[in-house]
Amino acid sequence: MSLLWTAREMVTAMGGRPFGNLPMGVTGISIDSRTITPGEAFFAIKGDRVDGHDYASIAIANGASLLVVSEAKLPALGRLTVPMIVVEDVLVGLQKLGMAARDRTPATVIAVTGSVGKTTTKEMLRMALAPSGKVHASVASFNNHWGVPLTLARMPIDTRYGVFELGMNHPGEIGPLSRMVRPDVAIITTIAPAHLGNFSSVDEIADAKAEIFEGVVNGGDAILNRDNPYYERLEQAALAQGVENIHSFGQHAKAEFRLAEFDGAAELSTVWVSFGGETREVTIGAPGRHLAENAMAVLAAVSLVGADVDAAIEAFASLSAVKGRGQRHRLKMPEGALTLIDESYNANPASMRAAIAVLASAQPGEDGRRIAVLGDMLEMGEFAPSVHAELAGPLLASGIEHVWLAGPEMVALRDALPETVHVVYFETTDELVNLVTAEVRAGDVVMVKSSLGIGFGKIVAALLDKY
Ligand code: ATP
Ligand code: MG
Repeated sequence: MSLLWTAREMVTAMGGRPFGNLPMGVTGISIDSRTITPGEAFFAIKGDRVDGHDYASIAIANGASLLVVSEAKLPALGRLTVPMIVVEDVLVGLQKLGMAARDRTPATVIAVTGSVGKTTTKEMLRMALAPSGKVHASVASFNNHWGVPLTLARMPIDTRYGVFELGMNHPGEIGPLSRMVRPDVAIITTIAPAHLGNFSSVDEIADAKAEIFEGVVNGGDAILNRDNPYYERLEQAALAQGVENIHSFGQHAKAEFRLAEFDGAAELSTVWVSFGGETREVTIGAPGRHLAENAMAVLAAVSLVGADVDAAIEAFASLSAVKGRGQRHRLKMPEGALTLIDESYNANPASMRAAIAVLASAQPGEDGRRIAVLGDMLEMGEFAPSVHAELAGPLLASGIEHVWLAGPEMVALRDALPETVHVVYFETTDELVNLVTAEVRAGDVVMVKSSLGIGFGKIVAALLDKY
């Protein structure tokens, strides 16, 4: 196993004090004592709920070869017989190591932010760039004050492309993350209401996402969604930060990577994308127009960094939806099959609309119905009633016949839907679980979506369990 960092490099980067006999180096970086593997360094990060220092001995038992701990905790840890680097603040140490990783790499770095579609776009970039060179990308949604430096610190020195997801809940969070990552290319997928409780308007959300430009390297590129109402605002923000190479994707006639046509009728999507004077047919292995939009942002990035566009297009065909984010199940029932679209991982107004569009284009079987099983979108603050009620628009336009709802906020949607739609409403998820499992039938297409905290995973689990 090759070394990710020598101990000497770590001490230099973090400015810490060695304690005990440091190993030659470490094979990886971990902040989780449950998943750490032998030879890795364990950073004892203090989170909201747990303090990594309390798990140091488990990390050692699981093979940690080096601990990074805070000075203040040393008295309690001093009896451990494992080498340590003692720093003032472990998170700051991780950030410094992350920045050292950025400094030493010749990789081209791409950062992705946006209200929705960050992880999807990041995973598409991973697939699309892999044929062109070694890719290092964030795990899951590791996009915050510890996820980003952790991903940076884990970046191997021979990385060709670094792909980072940057997320935020409050203004002022993306800027420092971007300055750490220093992207060559910054992508903003879309601006939409999300975490609205922490903002006074969507304008403010746009400005918080635009902080990504603060870290873009000199001569770097921005990739923006031309169809988004905040396009101009983001463009101005990019220019104000000295990012002059602005590229765009979308359906808009002026988009540089233009979605010329979209066919989402099947269980995969076919898209025609016009760029660089030609139109290319692109097959994406999962349904949804939102995936086509993300794919265009990815194509823009692939082409800007000079990677192999043909190979990237080929890679999109093997994309598949992930658990809780559009994954499809065909459940066998006595009289036929039921299609379940599992969107239970999360929800905000933009991803709700994307999922409603996917359900709208699904083909139910004979006697089958399209059923939207929807729960509350959390963190909408004072905007909660209106953003819930406004889902009536896309539901009606798409002609979805059944809308089954649960959660206190969904009252607003129930009241906004006319009698032509079959609406069922319950206060609690548990009541809805019973209805869904009892009432679905062969031929139905059922799409289940809510914010994670509402627990619609239970509905998915109950259906998978029963059929
Ligand atoms: P998080 O803030 O939770 O990390 P994220 O920005 O990483 O979210 P994803 O996990 O990629 O977002 O996608 C979440 C959901 O949003 C997906 O299930 C999908 O339904 C939807 N989605 C993905 N891309 C888009 C898009 N471009 N527009 C609208 N919805 C999208
Ligand atoms: Mg994510």
